[in-house]
Amino acid sequence: MSMARLGVIGNPAAHSLSPVIHRAWLSSYDIEGRYEIIETSDFIKHVRACQAQGWRGLNVTLPYKGDAYEICDECDEAAVRTKAVNCLLFESGRIFGFNTDVAGFILALDEEAPLWRNNRHAILLLGAGGVARAIVYALATVGFDNLHVVNRSAARAHALGEVHKNMNLKIYGYDDNIPLNEIGLVINATSMGMKNSALLPFSLEGLDKDVIIFDSIYTPLETDLLKEGRARAMICVNGLGMLIHQARVSFAHWFDIFPSVHSSLRATLERAL
Ligand code: NDP
Repeated sequence: MSMARLGVIGNPAAHSLSPVIHRAWLSSYDIEGRYEIIETSDFIKHVRACQAQGWRGLNVTLPYKGDAYEICDECDEAAVRTKAVNCLLFESGRIFGFNTDVAGFILALDEEAPLWRNNRHAILLLGAGGVARAIVYALATVGFDNLHVVNRSAARAHALGEVHKNMNLKIYGYDDNIPLNEIGLVINATSMGMKNSALLPFSLEGLDKDVIIFDSIYTPLETDLLKEGRARAMICVNGLGMLIHQARVSFAHWFDIFPSVHSSLRATLERAL
């Protein structure tokens, strides 16, 4: 194979961890390739240029996952249902699109909280943006169908219903009384709790201590939500695993290799944060 050219496209994209991850795998699997960062306000122009220059693929980050879905000739079911693509593959003059955040979420929980699949209670999802859509689709494919959603914008929360027909949604605002005794898994898919962003107006008080807490955020690795969960001896999972696993699935689309994750990669990423 000639040199494989790859990259991440977004705005901003400069601090993306994807280059660190994919460069490590290119090197460990002896693939001659380059993984670059494309920070741009003109998504379509750059994607077409990469395609014309024979690139292998791109990862897509904020704010272009919806544009990436639109530009594809063919998409996987996860992308169609979420209307979001975070991985592009250029092949035979066509653009293929995938939503690998979906599998990334499932693989992260399977690895870090394997009992999550045994949950027989409802799931509480905070947020209704792009990541929340991927998570709703993931939950539905695993067989969960009872979801309480808390979001600032009720319209966006209702729109999650389009993602999967089997999902039974109940929508709340942050000030509403949420039936916490029914919950077995809490998922933060908002950006609240990130460095320099608003604090999440939600406390774990009132939840059973067997509840699993997943936070999609990885900057910081330990959000206030996860700190509170750990203080209550709950099983807590941060967003780094989801990031690494979605990257594995992207790499597999490009090279037919499902890379293994060495602890040294995780440590490198933790240092880079
Ligand atoms: P979006 O912008 O699509 O969604 C943001 C969500 O946060 C919405 O639900 C929004 O509510 C809510 N929100 C943001 N600010 C506030 C606020 N001040 N008050 C109330 N609600 C707020 O972002 P994404 O879904 O793409 O990403 C969400 C987070 O997920 C990112 O910030 C990042 O930390 C993480 N992420 C993790 C990945 C991983 O692999 N682990 C991958 C990508 C992202 P509303 O709808 O009302 O605006």
